[in-house]
Amino acid sequence: MQSFPIFLSLKDRPVLVVGGGEPAARKVELLLSAGARVTLIADTVIGEIAHMIAEGRIAWAGRGFDAADLAGMSLVIVASDDEAVQARVSHAAQQRCLPVNVVDRPRLSSFIMPAIVDRAPITIAISTGGAAPALARRLRAEIERALPAAVGRLARFAEIFREQVRRTLERPRDRRRFWDRVFAGHIGELALAGDEFAARRELIRLLDSTRNENAPAGMVHLVGAGPGDPDLLTMKAHRLLQRADVIVYDRLVSPEVLAMARRDAERVFVGKRRGEHGPSQQEIHQRLVSLAQAGNSVVRLKGGDPLVFGRGGEEIEALMRAGITVEVVPGITAALGCAASAAIPLTHRDHAQACIFVTGQLRDGTVALDWPMLARPRQTVVIYMGAETLPLIASQLIAHGLPAETPVALIENGTTSRERRVVGTLATIERQAVRACLGGPTLCLVGEVVGLALARDPEFRFVSGIGL
Ligand code: SAH
Repeated sequence: MQSFPIFLSLKDRPVLVVGGGEPAARKVELLLSAGARVTLIADTVIGEIAHMIAEGRIAWAGRGFDAADLAGMSLVIVASDDEAVQARVSHAAQQRCLPVNVVDRPRLSSFIMPAIVDRAPITIAISTGGAAPALARRLRAEIERALPAAVGRLARFAEIFREQVRRTLERPRDRRRFWDRVFAGHIGELALAGDEFAARRELIRLLDSTRNENAPAGMVHLVGAGPGDPDLLTMKAHRLLQRADVIVYDRLVSPEVLAMARRDAERVFVGKRRGEHGPSQQEIHQRLVSLAQAGNSVVRLKGGDPLVFGRGGEEIEALMRAGITVEVVPGITAALGCAASAAIPLTHRDHAQACIFVTGQLRDGTVALDWPMLARPRQTVVIYMGAETLPLIASQLIAHGLPAETPVALIENGTTSRERRVVGTLATIERQAVRACLGGPTLCLVGEVVGLALARDPEFRFVSGIGL
């Protein structure tokens, strides 16, 4: 994080503003709306500022800056375009450890002013860490558009009941669920629509019934995290990630996806760390069961789709045996994500009438696949977990009749910013894979459709500089 976000209380606190023009006027207005007592330093003032002084809303010293002006101040803002003044005030303030902002001069500032969405009492502050203020303004416009103007009314409404709900529902988790139901349901709608009377009545009714409910039973949502790009999460997955008490995940879940989860949700890693054994599948089952039995809403996040080569089926069975409610939320499986990212059609009228997903993982020391079936022409074969057994797979496919020049693509970390591709043929791919040192999750696609993508765009194999 570039800077530390806080909301400063300035009510009745003295703030110094240096500068007498339009930019100063805008800062003064903002400060006044936060209740600050503003003293302005400028030789001359114009327009807006002159009015504020005449109306007695701010104090004005009609002279230049003197370091003694900083005494007793809580905050300093410099909105003058005189560079000598900017530097002088900034240094004097920083010497006294006073927070200072010089408009549009991040180097002279100890804090920055964010772009603001104001839906009192809700304030949203946006910063790009000084990298692109124009982008911050754009984001602000988008948030402005997405947030109903009355959302402030909703916050005020909730504030009325905050204490009462806190006393009635002791466990933070129960309170969070209660408020989720209020905001997502018709009580929130009523409050947004301004029908406060009905909203109050309904809220009290809900609070009553929640108090009398037994502790809610926990459940497990088996959620597809998709191949890595967080934009490929389903809306439902996103919603559940925002609400979960606990998130159980493994190595296939990308950090970008995990970052979409509620910040204070408990995170449980059940994958393998480098050089260590991870928990066994049995241990994962037990962990899920006990978390749900403790009343948690658990999201079991699995890379891609939870029911495609993810042992999701075994987890469903174990949970059901333990009497735990399970919901499955599908995700975009690696084959679909990687094919889309490389624009490889998995089926094609002229080249592939079928597409087969198989696992290349060893079982009892061999890859037990139906080779004659996989080696048929006019189909696409997608191999999950095949990086290690690639030499065996390629030679078996050739031995069972696929031409050695059949195109093959290996896609590592598909859909993420770390995506790399290696493209070749059944005859060459093993050598290329060794050269590329693929280490992340890698998908292997075999078939004429890979050649189509290559013919259409020869550059496509050069992602991250790995070519033939
Ligand atoms: N349930 C997952 C697959 C789990 S098996 C899904 O539906 O995608 C793990 C294998 O999936 C990896 O070995 C790799 O072959 C593939 N895989 C998963 N994510 C991938 C990604 N982002 N890029 C390439 N391959 C991926």
